[in-house]
Parts: sequence; C-alpha cells; structure tokens
Amino acid sequence: MYRSVIELINPYDPGYFPEDISEKFGIPLKSVIQLGSNENPYPPSHEVKRAYETAFSMINRYPHPSYMALKEKISEYLGISSENIAVTSGAGEALRHICEIVLDTMDTAVIPVPGYTLYAILAMLRDAIIRFIEFEDYRVRADEILDHDFRLLFLCSPNNPTGNTVEWKEIRKILENSDGIVVVDEAYVEFAGKSIAKRVEEYENLIVVRSFSKFFGLAGMRVGYVVGNQRLIQGIEKVRYPFSISYPGFMTAMAALESMEYYRKVAEKIISERDRMRKELEEIRGFYVYPSETNFLLVKTEMDISTSLEKRGIIIRDITGLMGLEGHHFRITVGLPEENERLIQHLKEISSM
Ligand SMILES: *Cc1c(COP(=O)(O)O)cnc(C)c1O
Repeated sequence: MYRSVIELINPYDPGYFPEDISEKFGIPLKSVIQLGSNENPYPPSHEVKRAYETAFSMINRYPHPSYMALKEKISEYLGISSENIAVTSGAGEALRHICEIVLDTMDTAVIPVPGYTLYAILAMLRDAIIRFIEFEDYRVRADEILDHDFRLLFLCSPNNPTGNTVEWKEIRKILENSDGIVVVDEAYVEFAGKSIAKRVEEYENLIVVRSFSKFFGLAGMRVGYVVGNQRLIQGIEKVRYPFSISYPGFMTAMAALESMEYYRKVAEKIISERDRMRKELEEIRGFYVYPSETNFLLVKTEMDISTSLEKRGIIIRDITGLMGLEGHHFRITVGLPEENERLIQHLKEISSM
C-alpha cells in the first residue's frame, strides 16, 4: 500500500495533550497543567495580540509569498542579510526541507542521541543511512562525529532533551574537517544566549534552524526559519510551499520581533523559575536533575512518576526508553510559578508514598 520505509518509521510521539488527560481522568480541561511540550506558558505581548486581530480581518487573502517583511525583521534581529534567511511553517518544516535538498538515497545522516526524534524520521523519508552516536555525558565531540563520512549531521544546541549546548569549538572543528552539511537546531537558543547563526557567513556547510515556538511563545502559529548560505536558502525556497506560513503566523511573528523587551523579561522569569525548580527537584530522594540552558529540565528517577502526575492533572513528558537514555527519564517544561509549585508539591507526595 505504501513504501516499506513508512512501515519502519515509528510515528512521532507528541506526548499527552490536556484534552487527553481531561477525558481519561475526568479532570476539567482548564485545570490540567501542561508541562510536557516545552511551550512558553506566558500570554503573547500586546503587539502580538493586536497583530493577530489585524490578521483576522485579512484571512480571506493569501499572505505575500516572499514573506520579505518578516525576513527583514529577522535579518535585523540576527544581524544577518535577509538573503541568508528562509521562513518556514515551524522549525519542523525547515528540517524537512533541509533533508529534501541535501539527502539522496543511501546518503549518510549522523544523529547524536539522545536527541529530537524528528531528525531520524525525516532522514528515513529520504532513504538515508542513519548513524546514531552516543557521547559520554551527552557532550558532542567533533572527533567521534568525524569518524563518519556524513552528508548531513543534525546537531541540536541547546539539545532537546538533555538541555546542554554543543561547544562552538567542536562544531567549528566539524565544519572545517568535513564536506557534509551541518544543521544546528537552535529552537531553544534564546534561553542559552549563544547563537552561532552569524557563522553561516564564514562556513558554507553550516545551516541553522530557528523557531518562534519557544522563546516567542508562538507554538500555535507555526513559524520557523533557516539561516544559511544563499545557495542553500535558494534551494529551500524552491521546495517550500508558496504560502507555507499563514497570514496570522506571518503577522504575529513580525509583531513578536517588535516586542523583544517583553519576551526578554518572560525568558528571565522562565530561567529563574528553572533554576529554582532544579534545586527543589534535586532535593527529592532518587531524583537527578541535569543542568539546563533551556526552558525544560531533564530528570532521571528510580521509578515512573508521570502516570501518578497525570492522574493529578499534570502532564510531563516520559522519555524513558528514548535511544541513548538508560533508566527512567522525564522532561519537565518550566511553567508558570504556581504550576511549577503544584508539580513540586505533587512530586514530593508521590516520592514519599
Ligand atoms: C520544539 C522544537 C522545535 C520547534 O518546532 P516548531 O516546528 O518550530 O514548533 C524544533 N526542534 C526542537 C529540538 C524542538 O524541541
């Protein structure tokens, strides 16, 4: 009925959504706490709300397919020419298009694990050969990557789900010693503050993927972008759907870039909550919490904690069994202070039972 590779692909696991938990346990939808999808829990800025309203009255129209106004805003934000930027429907679509323009059948794709599961799905769709590599302490090192003759390497910095960044000196060593394309997924970079996007001006084989879903809190709008050399960007423009970003997505992303002060403050709150949560969670018996440069925490425990939390209306992501992880692991998104507090109280109860 369809290609055998489709048979082999495990569906992407999006975790639980509030609707699922509400239905399963009879909890009112509004009181479910969603800490499973690394979303930004704060409301949009006034500018973004206004842009959404403006876009609403225009939804019978197509947005301009060049999306030039948005590219120019991103160009200002990053200090990189708009010719080095392509905009996409979320970072997910960006990653897919990179695979489409780079990977031929039987090309090798290298993926460090534990990592974002979408990379393997997208590489498999291109009938690529995939090499998964594990690193000590989850620290990506150039030498082990360079043992493989790859066409495409997926790096994620800061990494989902480990929360740590890949050192620039390692990335640089890879870029200087391989002809392969290196994609660096920077979906969480604003929480870490060390983007390498500008390096695309120096390295032709570097391509950086960014998102409006996390720091800018526009997960529901589906807007992302790619930063790379002009040839790669032109390639993406060729395969991209003409109107891949909706009118509201286009308008709200531009408004978000005009609300930097607001989103910086939001990120500061998230970061201080993250550090507070890490301390509190570390005190729970049997918990190990990894350092994080993102808006989530990776927690290793001696037992399952997500099922009991779900019954209490709190969603976290159970990533036990993810390739490259051994033992029970959970990814917890930093929520609003009162949500985090409820999570911690419940976890203290569960772990003392
Ligand atoms: C959330 C996330 C993205 C962003 O995806 P969007 O399609 O922009 O919502 C990309 N990469 C990683 C690793 C992520 O965790």
